[in-house]
Parts: sequence; C-alpha cells; structure tokens
Amino acid sequence: MPSLVIDAPAVPLVPVQGSDAAFPVRRVYCIGRNYAAHAIEMGHDPDREPPFFFQKNPDNLDAGGSFVYPAHSSDVHHEVELVVGLGKGGMNIPVDEALDCVWGYAVGLDMTRRDLQGIAKQMGRPWEIGKAFEGSAPVGPMRPASEIGHPAAGRIVLKVNGEVRQEGDLNQMIWKIPEMIAYLSEYFELAAGDVIMTGTPSGVGAVARGDLMEAHVEGVGDLVVRVV
Ligand code: MN
Repeated sequence: MPSLVIDAPAVPLVPVQGSDAAFPVRRVYCIGRNYAAHAIEMGHDPDREPPFFFQKNPDNLDAGGSFVYPAHSSDVHHEVELVVGLGKGGMNIPVDEALDCVWGYAVGLDMTRRDLQGIAKQMGRPWEIGKAFEGSAPVGPMRPASEIGHPAAGRIVLKVNGEVRQEGDLNQMIWKIPEMIAYLSEYFELAAGDVIMTGTPSGVGAVARGDLMEAHVEGVGDLVVRVV
C-alpha cells in the first residue's frame, strides 16, 4: 500500500440503534417521485414510468440531529424517506433475491433546495446543487433487518413544529424496495455500505430556521432534527 499524501477522508458512519456499532456508507442513491401523490403534487404523471435515481454524497448523511439551513436558497424543502442500508451488493440482482442484500433500515430526510432544483430541471442541468449539499441527508439510527424484518407497509409521517406535513404509507411506493435494488444493480455495481433513499410521500414543503422536524416510520423508528 502506498503512503498517503493527504489524510484519508473519513468513511461516513450511521449509528446502529442500541449499540456502539455503526454502518459505514459507500454511496447514496435516491429515487425520484416514488409515491403517486407526491409525483402529482410535483406536476408529474404518476403512471409507472421507469424509475430514476440521483445521488447524494455519502458525507451528506448527518446523524447529528440538526440541519444547517444552506446558503443560496430561500425554499428548502423536507422530504421524509425510508432509508435502506445494503450489507452486500452485486450486479443484475434478481428481484426475488434483492432483500437478501439489505442489512437494515433507518428514517431519513432528503432535504432539497427546491428553488435551485427547479432551475436545474428547467435548464436540463444535473440536480446536485439542489440535492447534494452539506448536511442534506439527516438520518436516524440504522436498525438491522434481522431485528425488524423488511418493512413493506406502515405509516410514514413528518411533523414540523408538531403539525403533520407529510403522511403516507410505505405500501404506496410505486417501485418497491426489491425492485429498486434490482433496477439499480442493472446500471451500477452495488456493494455493502450503499444506501438507498426510497422516495417521499406527498406534503413536501418549506422549512425555516428554528423549525423542529419530527419524522417517524412505523416499524423502523424516529428522527428528530432542528433547523438551525
Ligand atoms: Mn426524495
């Protein structure tokens, strides 16, 4: 192994609930428009067109419990999502074997500079400036599938300052978790440490500094994040 000319960047970690252990992160894939009601609210046809994905940076994941309102936006939106952590990967994974790749689940937020994303969409540009900024993926503790199973149904909700803003059911996902894993594995080589953010139910909206976001996914857990 060569000597390193700079310090090796730290591997981003997601804590595992109820232990000192952590889940190391390799890549972060996010699916767009995966709940019909959210696709409609964003002005799109909810019919089952092929899924599409974008990526956040692994170090955008933040388990610290606060979200720093980012620069260059006045319309930062919350998107509550179920987060999947892979314990193994591969290519061309069959749908009926895909859940064997899942190590665990967490509750997350796909925070979005909606104004910058909107400009990018209009101009046919990539979405990173709206999606992949510092702290843009607050995440709760990972829970192993060996404890909680593979949630396919259950309430997913986000409250802001105690008021319900987003509410749905995991069973409303257009593309199910095994289908997402199988599809991604046709285009990318998946591996242990990869994280998939599985889309958001309807009710996305803006946050302001001082807001308290409380996310819950039935059977998975909670995530509480203050906007600062
Ligand atoms: Mn999202």
